[in-house]
Amino acid sequence: MRNHKVYLIGAGPGRADMITVRGLKILQQADVIIHDYLVDKAALEGLKPGAEIISSERYGKKACHGRSGQAQKKINDLMVKMAKAGRHVARLKNGDTSIFSRISEEIEALEKNKIEFEIVPGVTAASAASSFTGVPLTDRRYSSNVVFVTGHENPDKGIKIDWRRIAGMDTIALYMSSGDISDIAWKLIRSGRPETTAVLAVSNAGAVNQKTAIAALGSIADTVQKNAIKAPAIFIIGKTAGLEKRYNWLRKNRRILFTGLSGERFFLKGTYFHLPLIRIEPLEDYSGFDRYLKNIKMFDWIVFSSRFGVEYFFKRLKELGLDARILNNIKIAAIGNCTSERLLDFTISADLVPKKESSKGLIDEFRELDIKAKKIFLPRSDISDKGLEKEFEKLGAKVISSFAYRNVMAEGLPDLDLNNFDEIMFTSPSGVRSFINRYGKAPLKVKIACIGDTTKKEALKWGLLG
Ligand code: SAH
Repeated sequence: MRNHKVYLIGAGPGRADMITVRGLKILQQADVIIHDYLVDKAALEGLKPGAEIISSERYGKKACHGRSGQAQKKINDLMVKMAKAGRHVARLKNGDTSIFSRISEEIEALEKNKIEFEIVPGVTAASAASSFTGVPLTDRRYSSNVVFVTGHENPDKGIKIDWRRIAGMDTIALYMSSGDISDIAWKLIRSGRPETTAVLAVSNAGAVNQKTAIAALGSIADTVQKNAIKAPAIFIIGKTAGLEKRYNWLRKNRRILFTGLSGERFFLKGTYFHLPLIRIEPLEDYSGFDRYLKNIKMFDWIVFSSRFGVEYFFKRLKELGLDARILNNIKIAAIGNCTSERLLDFTISADLVPKKESSKGLIDEFRELDIKAKKIFLPRSDISDKGLEKEFEKLGAKVISSFAYRNVMAEGLPDLDLNNFDEIMFTSPSGVRSFINRYGKAPLKVKIACIGDTTKKEALKWGLLG
């Protein structure tokens, strides 16, 4: 029996981790993911191997509004076709599935074709804009209702938005309006909303490039233009927007752009925005590396200089059907706590972890040992230099260095106003180079922090420090 099932999932706005735990679990079991263009691409990592990712952009559907009926139909047809072929389909929509997302058309297509489906809720843009600016949508003192309204009327629907009714609501969350805000503000004022009403504009809510501006209804259009607030943007109109000055925690916190790869840590001082500037990718061809793994017993030491080296080493070992016990007579060294902790995940307790977390620290400690004529295996990244190898050779060791993974510049990095950050943190020389390549310089007022001497050296070289 073929399994005709589709999940319609809300991805949340702005950032990959806004999706619900349930949504994420389903994504990880899907064969095909058809996603909206606004969905953060980082949400599409960690999928099932071989999962097919299809962007709705391919079908010409960009925003949810506009005359994209043809594109919507193509997406519906694709969903139906994939499900009928027995594939597990996840349709990943921006924000919440039920708000301005044409979900009815998708439901009807599935229903007509007798395809079973489920819907998974998501965080809507208004909620994200509210949380990430501290502005509540309701407040028991002066807002007991909120309306979600689109600035884009459906031209085929025949009915027009009743702005008089909208103007009378306590809080108005205005979607899809950045291009027409001047017109809409005027309609609300004409319908009786005071010109002095507070308006909060938030673009890219929740994302690393979130931008906010606050103004009175009478001047919001100018403010949006001056601050270059562009789509996707949402407007929160009403008394609660006036609380922004006091409640906006993001504006008050120290904002740190963290460019490394390590996982997010919470409860640190300040707000961290994770924007990895590099990516770790597998090699295209592992035949060279595998050859050493098959003969790993010939080595006296394996030296891991990063946790990725550890990960790819064990991944390949598993792939080759080898057992970790093959390493029983080999000594293992690791540079850095991250690396030695990753080794522990594979139940390997490193024999040597230099006190100073660097290649130099490692060599200093090896100098105390007799490694003359010893064979050392170095699983490394494709961009590492030959420094470590040379130092080992000076000590009389025989070194084989082999690429275990690739370190590449991240693609699709967003445009950023770097002035929005108080600090930029670098964790590797390749991260520094990627930053220079994508963003050029950093504003003088932004503090540059570097982890490790080699990172600092690279930052100095490119004029990021001092
Ligand atoms: N289903 C979505 C809305 C889709 S309509 C939801 O529930 O949020 C697209 C509109 O949503 C955009 O024009 C914008 O008004 C809003 N939007 C989506 N993502 C946003 C974001 N990160 N920041 C601000 N507004 C966003």
